[in-house]
Amino acid sequence: MESALTARDRVGVQDFVLLENYTSEAAFIENLRKRFKENLIYTYIGSVLVSVNPYRELEIYTKNHMERYRGVNFYEVSPHIYAVADNSYRSMRTERKDQCILISGESGAGKTEASKKILQYYAVTCPASEQVQTVKDRLLQSNPVLEAFGNAKTLRNDNSSRFGKYMDIQFDFKGAPVGGHIINYLLEKSRVVHQNHGERNFHIFYQLIEGGEEDLLRRLGLERNPQQYQYLVKVSISTCEAKKDCRKSKFMQVLMNLIYIVAGLTDCVSVLSILSLSLSPSCVCFLQQLMSPLNLEQASSARDALSKAVYGRTFTWLVNKINLLENKDYLRKYTGNGRYNQLICTNTTHLKFTAFIVFCSFEQFCINYCNEKLQQLFIELTLKSEQEEYESEGITWEPVQYFNNKIICDLVEEKFKGIISILDEECLRPGDASDFTFLEKLEDTVGGHPHFVTHKLADGKTRKVMGRDEFRLLHYAGEVNYNVNGFLDKNNDLLFRNLKEVSLFSAQNYIISILLCDVAATQFKASLAKLMEILMSKEPSYIRCIKPNDSKQSGRFDEVLIRHQVKYLGLMENLRVRRAGFAYRRRYEVFLQRYKSLCPDTWPNWQGKLADGVAILVKHLGYKPEEYKLGRSKIFIRFPKTLFATEDALETR
Ligand code: ADP
Repeated sequence: MESALTARDRVGVQDFVLLENYTSEAAFIENLRKRFKENLIYTYIGSVLVSVNPYRELEIYTKNHMERYRGVNFYEVSPHIYAVADNSYRSMRTERKDQCILISGESGAGKTEASKKILQYYAVTCPASEQVQTVKDRLLQSNPVLEAFGNAKTLRNDNSSRFGKYMDIQFDFKGAPVGGHIINYLLEKSRVVHQNHGERNFHIFYQLIEGGEEDLLRRLGLERNPQQYQYLVKVSISTCEAKKDCRKSKFMQVLMNLIYIVAGLTDCVSVLSILSLSLSPSCVCFLQQLMSPLNLEQASSARDALSKAVYGRTFTWLVNKINLLENKDYLRKYTGNGRYNQLICTNTTHLKFTAFIVFCSFEQFCINYCNEKLQQLFIELTLKSEQEEYESEGITWEPVQYFNNKIICDLVEEKFKGIISILDEECLRPGDASDFTFLEKLEDTVGGHPHFVTHKLADGKTRKVMGRDEFRLLHYAGEVNYNVNGFLDKNNDLLFRNLKEVSLFSAQNYIISILLCDVAATQFKASLAKLMEILMSKEPSYIRCIKPNDSKQSGRFDEVLIRHQVKYLGLMENLRVRRAGFAYRRRYEVFLQRYKSLCPDTWPNWQGKLADGVAILVKHLGYKPEEYKLGRSKIFIRFPKTLFATEDALETR
């Protein structure tokens, strides 16, 4: 039989806190690599689950696996997403606290799969209720529609979600799911009008054009050939019959679900005709006529702005429809008598920091700001939960040195002198306000900030490597250059506002008129604020997803790529906080159960107080006083080697 020592050598440790050299990034990555090679895609950092996308189907999601993780202690079984799902569910039930599971990672890292696996776990393991089938069906039914409208092929992922979403599920007092809700935020609207080389527009456009019945297309004034349409031309699409059939059935599936969601064929056709508005070449001429004097270029950008806005609002409208469907009386439940606890899965897409410096636009500025906030929340909550555990166990708190990225969040969001405030101010200022005056204002206001850099040096000289239309932010995850071109327009959505004033479509398509009637000024800030508020009020669990390579290959471990992700997911910082005091902690009964055979006084059964049993056991094992502490219900062990010696003793007994 393989000894514990060699097994550890081969498959690494299942919790990073057990790494001897826990500050070493190389050791961290080596551990990840060992486990990945053995198809062990899950590893903990304390209670955080790190997951590496295997890009192959693993036999670890069967009903048997679900049963294995049901109701067991988090650390007794090997790390698994079901353990996180189960742990979160049980905390909700026993402590009556709302929970959230935060899933993050870059595109293709496995976030969507992770959230699906959690849903499947609940679908199988939670007690049945009258509504359980309906909740399950509807969450699953809405998925194809959300994917059709919100997902697209990117270079990194064939079916990439281009929006952040959180779902929440409400459970009744018996622990049965009784309702669900989805909120979307930050849809990548610019994809409607522009896709990078080799990428595609949202799936729904192709599904409609290639899979829609002739009759429907005629009604919508569309033609079968995607090359017809400027927004879709970039990608050549195979006309192979088998693929065509597949697209047809995919479209039918989306259509059926869509009809169900919008509760009728008329509305469904309205939604589809909104898409045709975006595609139609005549849109430009139409706008030129309506909004003269617009030249061709202005009319084209007006069309782009309109298409983006309309698409974004259609998406939000659809999500709202799905929510209404799922919970007709959602609000009553939400604000009800506290019988319902929610469990939220959040998907956040991180921006990839490939090179030392990446160049970004306004949208990415928003996304990076969002990540910065989430990181702050993550560190604060990890520290807080550590501190709370020490307190509740009666152990003295040992302060931890860590990098607090609040300084960067403040730089972006502080009232009056943060970047967003300055941007808003420039947008509202009449006269000569432009992207350049915005940059000048930034230099005047935050020029001396340690995380802000432009081409201007303090001594009046110029930093040659930076353009005059750029500023650089030193994010916690790396340095990012932002080009200010378009910042004002995008913040303002000026073109869109003009269009709204004309309110040209109100009579033609009532969905568009609903969509246009409530333009949120800074929708992004509002949705971010909402996200933070929701997350702050819950007890969080974290799943950090890592993408092992860029070629979607199983078994390939690209170290450079992974090192970047470890950095910007803040995993080393997380490990430092978790390891600052003690590497290992276990409840007395769990510890005693596992090791009681190593001491004649505790074997075969300890009859006295658990704490006394553990004290006798560790004394017998020769633990030195500086190596451990006994809390109210748990033993805390400072170094991994102490625990490993005990594990080895168990093996060689
Ligand atoms: P993200 O939502 O982070 O962009 P996805 O969850 O869509 O990424 O994952 C991308 C692809 O990777 C999936 O379509 C699937 O093929 C594969 N994948 C992700 N997680 C797993 C997993 N746990 N097991 C097997 N394949 C996976």
